[in-house]
Amino acid sequence: MPTYSTDFEKALEVGRPPNVKKLFPNSKALIVSGKYIDRAMRAKGKAMTIAANGRSQVVIRGVLKAAQKANAAVIIEIARTEGGIDNYCGTTFWNMARQVDAVCNEMGITIPVAIHADHYVLKAGEDLDATKIEIDSIFDAGVTSIAIDASHQPDDDNLLTNIAINSAIPDWAGLETEIGEIKGNQGLSSSEEALFLIQGLNAHGIFPDWIALNNGSTHGIEEGDEGIQVDLTAEIHNAISKYKVSGAQHGTSGNNSDRLRKIADDTETTKANVATALQMISWGMKVNEYGNSIFDEKGDLIKIEGEGLSEKLWAEMKAYADEQNIKGSNFKKINRPFENRILAQTREVRERMVDATAEFAYDLLANVFNAEGTGDLLIQEILEKNSYDSGPLVGIIESKDEWTEEKIRHKASLIITDKGPDGDFSE
Ligand SMILES: [Zn+2]
Repeated sequence: MPTYSTDFEKALEVGRPPNVKKLFPNSKALIVSGKYIDRAMRAKGKAMTIAANGRSQVVIRGVLKAAQKANAAVIIEIARTEGGIDNYCGTTFWNMARQVDAVCNEMGITIPVAIHADHYVLKAGEDLDATKIEIDSIFDAGVTSIAIDASHQPDDDNLLTNIAINSAIPDWAGLETEIGEIKGNQGLSSSEEALFLIQGLNAHGIFPDWIALNNGSTHGIEEGDEGIQVDLTAEIHNAISKYKVSGAQHGTSGNNSDRLRKIADDTETTKANVATALQMISWGMKVNEYGNSIFDEKGDLIKIEGEGLSEKLWAEMKAYADEQNIKGSNFKKINRPFENRILAQTREVRERMVDATAEFAYDLLANVFNAEGTGDLLIQEILEKNSYDSGPLVGIIESKDEWTEEKIRHKASLIITDKGPDGDFSE
């Protein structure tokens, strides 16, 4: 039976948002707002934590185990493509918090965790009234943080969509916004674009905790080695520094650890999204030291015998993928059809998948992201604030009269941007 400190018990009492307390009245899981995760990283300084895409329950278990060992506050997330109404993963917006809460209580996890709706993509023409109903439902299901992603739209529509949807998001929740789709070295983001979005939001009383940029990384498996552009990221963060917005790093999987350390050291990044690497490592695929998949001469993934999935189940998954002509990063699409089969494996196999995930995530948290100790730091932040809402870091700086729809469209028309090629760059 785990022991719970008085600080932890107090944090449970005052630090869990109302939706979480309602869902899990007797729980020992410290599920908190995404805002607090950012504040804890800022309190430590030069620190970022993992935002793990919990595509499978196995990954959720592994990451929480690693976080407990590192005493690190972490985020469990799922993207709208992965876990929305047309989900391709077993984990969804509507079961993610329940899974995290159950695993925390079962494993005696006492580090704080936020539940994040990653890439909540809003494309042009989306019925925002219907979307607001869906957003209400995911907060009712225990989500405590959300990434509004209208980056597929031109800058003015991106901003106007963020403003239009904001009333559906609780003030206490973590809020991420995004400019520039994650397209590798094409259509890189600029300070001008970032300032436009952040100033426009500020004028409308919206204070995001994170901004996601296209700073050179790609979702899925890294093809090239260019990867994340640290200087560009630092320059953009510097340009928006007075609005106290932190960075959210996307496409972290497969990036060189030294570069990731520089992102934590030299930029305002406090959240690093990791999806593909955790999936591949839990499955027992051959990856390089940064978690990037290694392929055989036929361009197929390489399964390590005796690690991850059972050989029997991997053979079934591979046959299914071949049938569907699924390759490389698109293996993510077989998560949902195989989740139950993964959970139906022997205890020994499930545990080795969890342990491999935990080992990789622990190394990132302790040796790359500098996130050790942020668990306790976050609990102190809650006790100081004596509330589940850490509040915004800034107030209104910009004048709303300068950011009417008409002026927004005019300002956007003056921004010279290269959005890069069209295509499917989603998570
Ligand atoms: Zn992403």
